[in-house]
Amino acid sequence: MDKTGVVYLVGSGPGGLNLMTRRAREVLDKAEVILYDQLPGDEILASLPAHAEKVDVGKFGGHHTKEQDEIERLMVSYAKQGRHVVRLKGGDPFLFGRGGEELETLRAHGIPVEIVPGVTSAVAVPASVGIPVTHRRYASQVTILTGNEDPTKDESAIDWDWLSKSRGTIVILMGVKNLGNIAKFLVDHGMDAFTPVAIIERGLRPDQRETIGTLETIPRLALERKVSPPAVIVIGGVVSLYTGEHVVQS
Ligand code: SAH
Repeated sequence: MDKTGVVYLVGSGPGGLNLMTRRAREVLDKAEVILYDQLPGDEILASLPAHAEKVDVGKFGGHHTKEQDEIERLMVSYAKQGRHVVRLKGGDPFLFGRGGEELETLRAHGIPVEIVPGVTSAVAVPASVGIPVTHRRYASQVTILTGNEDPTKDESAIDWDWLSKSRGTIVILMGVKNLGNIAKFLVDHGMDAFTPVAIIERGLRPDQRETIGTLETIPRLALERKVSPPAVIVIGGVVSLYTGEHVVQS
């Protein structure tokens, strides 16, 4: 076969079918192969078309270079068979989804690519409980970071010192494991221990749950409540707008 398939790097949004874009739905419905992991959540995964070949690449691990190489190798080989391939990712494909690396690889192989942006959990999940990531009174900047980076380790791609002195909202994805170290580091480096913090687990899904505290109390609360991923952590004055009311339809 000499035609090359298109690879679509698609964001599913935070979980509910009604927060997925129309373009995402269209390309999923005509996909021949769908490479997915569990992050899009049950509702979206249950809606994948029966006729498509579905490959769970989440079980490769995703975060490690070797597994990522394997995912990219698969995308390339399916596309070279002339098939339309969707790489489905939670939220937006270009925010901590390794979409950028996949784009580079596909380009290097001359494979046509379309990016389908998605509603990112970093903004929509706090919004679901009425927490805006910016607000004129509280924060005119927002930093979104991966909590996979441990501030107590010598080498980190994140400038933790700068962050602990910054005045905006901090949104942490993949941060459950290192939350204790992160909260302690920020306080030790000058951030107010009473800064409010929200952890929102499984945002915009039926079993969403919030845990609200301060930089001082949140590590203990997270342990007591057995907080688990996926969760978005929000640090900053905007969290004081939390009332418990859910204000985004999922
Ligand atoms: N590309 C995704 C983020 C991928 S990193 C996006 O734009 O949303 C994976 C992390 O995203 C998870 O560990 C969690 O921190 C966050 N996440 C994604 N969906 C979520 C959801 N529905 N509720 C809470 N956190 C979510």
